[in-house]
Formats: sequence, structure tokens, C-alpha cells
Amino acid sequence: MNPGGPHPERQADTARPAIADRFGRVKRKLRVSLTDRCNYRCVYCMPECPVWKPRADILRFEELHALVGFFVRRLGIEQVRLTGGEPLVRRGVAGFVRMLADLRASGLNRVSLSSNGVMLARFAGALARAGLDDVNVSLDAISPALFSRMTGGGQVRDVLRGIEAARKAGLRVKLNAVVIRGMNQDEIVPLTEFAVSEDLPLRFIEFMPLDGRGFWSADKVVTEREILALVCERFEVSATERTNEPASYYLLDSKFQLGIIATVSNPFCARCDRVRLTADGRVFSCLFAPAGVDLREALARSAGGAESLDSLVREAIWNKPAGFIELRGRGEVSMNVLGG
Ligand code: SAM
Ligand code: SF4
Repeated sequence: MNPGGPHPERQADTARPAIADRFGRVKRKLRVSLTDRCNYRCVYCMPECPVWKPRADILRFEELHALVGFFVRRLGIEQVRLTGGEPLVRRGVAGFVRMLADLRASGLNRVSLSSNGVMLARFAGALARAGLDDVNVSLDAISPALFSRMTGGGQVRDVLRGIEAARKAGLRVKLNAVVIRGMNQDEIVPLTEFAVSEDLPLRFIEFMPLDGRGFWSADKVVTEREILALVCERFEVSATERTNEPASYYLLDSKFQLGIIATVSNPFCARCDRVRLTADGRVFSCLFAPAGVDLREALARSAGGAESLDSLVREAIWNKPAGFIELRGRGEVSMNVLGG
């Protein structure tokens, strides 16, 4: 069986600090956006004419390390995912992964990356040597023409090369594919066949109203049920028990685990254990939160003690909305800023 199912969750360590929101959801995962910039222009993510955040507003790696350290030591975060924009367009990401190694002794047990894969051919070896555990690569189509259309000119062969380099470097690789009606629903079966043949874990993601160009509409969402119906035409499918992973997992032909992240039609909000940090130092308690809480000033003041940082973050997390169902609207910040 492919290792694509839910990451084995550790038993809750009662000796570790823990932070919960007002609905009792304990946070164990932090997604850290390293940049809002990207070398792709995916139709479901980027604004048509993106305006990048000024470099002066982007936290230095030392500042990000201090914040991640705070989340790990004080709040009990155990897993960190580096994302973006495209995290690998920022110089020095492998060095940052290495900086995070000192937090392993404080309870950090996994450092992951989300990438479009293009720059992995260049950086996978350095990232693996720095201690990266695994990488999620976006691959929305196998057809070169469609892939290019969806990513604003990307070449699918670059991504496939990146995936190969990451596997050679010893990194675990998972694929993610956003599905959009009228665009790539015909790629669902070919992508699944590719993933099965390469033994690469795959998750389909429902299109969420977080794109930067107002392209989302409810009718463009290909739901979990529809994705399954297509997969069922080609594979024998059985459901597996749901965990606190965002995806529901299905077993194909009794051997391959396929995930579907159905944020719109079947949200996992009730079990959400994530917090998000943007590259300019804002904490978002939810993908759909209307605004983030700016931590920069508190971080600057926290040299002599982390009290103001502590109360700001705790309040932001406490006030996490119930989820997509409660918010129902578009997020204010697009995915390239939030990091997915
Ligand atoms: N550049 C990297 C990548 O593409 O994987 C990391 C950043 S990207 C914002 C993180 C994840 O968000 C990717 O899996 C991407 O497919 C997903 N994503 C972006 N916009 C989305 C949307 N509107 N709905 C659903 N998923 C989206
Ligand atoms: Fe860039 Fe990733 Fe957004 Fe595509 S999904 S535009 S690769 S940040």
C-alpha cells in the first residue's frame, strides 16, 4: 500500500503545552508562508496582476524562527509546513529548514514543504540534507497544454523532474490537485492512474473561494462525490475511517489511498488543528478568517519576555471561527498570501 494516507498522529503528549480554540480544537500544526511571490500564476490562486508585499515587510528567517519557536515551545505546535506563494523562490529555504532543527528537542516532529515542484530539481538535495521530512507538490493536470493553461505557462515536465529529484533525495512526496469544473475534471482519472503507477500519494482538493482574481463560483466546484463517481468508473473504491487530516481517504483496488479535501462540500473544520502564519507576520486562525492578527510589533517587544505575543496569539486562536460553514463568504486574503 502506498504511504499516502493520513500521517500517523502521535498520541497526545500530556506533558506538552497545548492551545485550543473556543470549540476545544487543539492546535498542533502551523503553516508558515515564506513569501507571497511565485513563479506560477495558477488561475485558482494568484491575482491576475499580483502586487507583491514590499520586501521590507517580509519577516527575516531569524524572526520567523523566533515565532515558530514560540509556537512550538509555548503552544505545543508539533508540525510545521513551509508554504507560500512558492516557498522555493525565496533564497535560503534549506538554511531555514536547518535553523528549525533545534526545535526538535522542544517537540517539533515534522517539517514539511508545499511547492509547485519547479525548483525542486535544484534544491531537493539541500532540503533533504537540512532535515526536511516531506514535500507536497501541486500537479493539477498531466496534459502539458492544460497544465500550462492552469498555471499561467508552467511546464509539466519541470514538475515531474522536481518530483523525481525529491524522491531521489529521499523526501516523501505527495501530490495535490485542485479540481475546477470546465477546466480539469477530465484529468481526475489520468492523474489518479499516474499517481497509482508511480506509487505517489494523491489528494484532490475542491476549489475554494480564495483565489486572487474572483474566478471562483459555486458551480466550478467539483465536489468530493463527483470526484469519487469518476474514480469509481476506473477503480474499485472503498472508504476508510476519517482521521483529523483534512482529507477523506479512499482505498482504490484495495491498495492505493486516495485523499479528497472537500472544504466546500464536506468541510473538516470541526477537527481543524491548524494555525497559519503569513510571511509578513500575521497569524490567521482559519483560511477563511476575515483578517489576520499582526505579530510583528509584539515580536519586536518580546525580546525580554513573550507576554504580549502570548496574549495576542492566544486571543487569535481562541476566536477561531467554527469554519467555512460559519463564514460562508470569500476570504479577504488570497491563497498565495495565506499559503493554503
Ligand atoms: N506554491 C505551492 C503550491 O502550489 O503547492 C504552495 C502554495 S499553494 C497556495 C498551497 C496549496 O493551496 C496548493 O496545494 C494549491 O493547489 C492550493 N490552492 C491554491 N489556491 C486554491 C484554491 N482557490 N482552492 C483550493 N486550493 C487552492
Ligand atoms: Fe503559485 Fe502555488 Fe499559487 Fe500556483 S498555487 S500560483 S504555484 S502559490
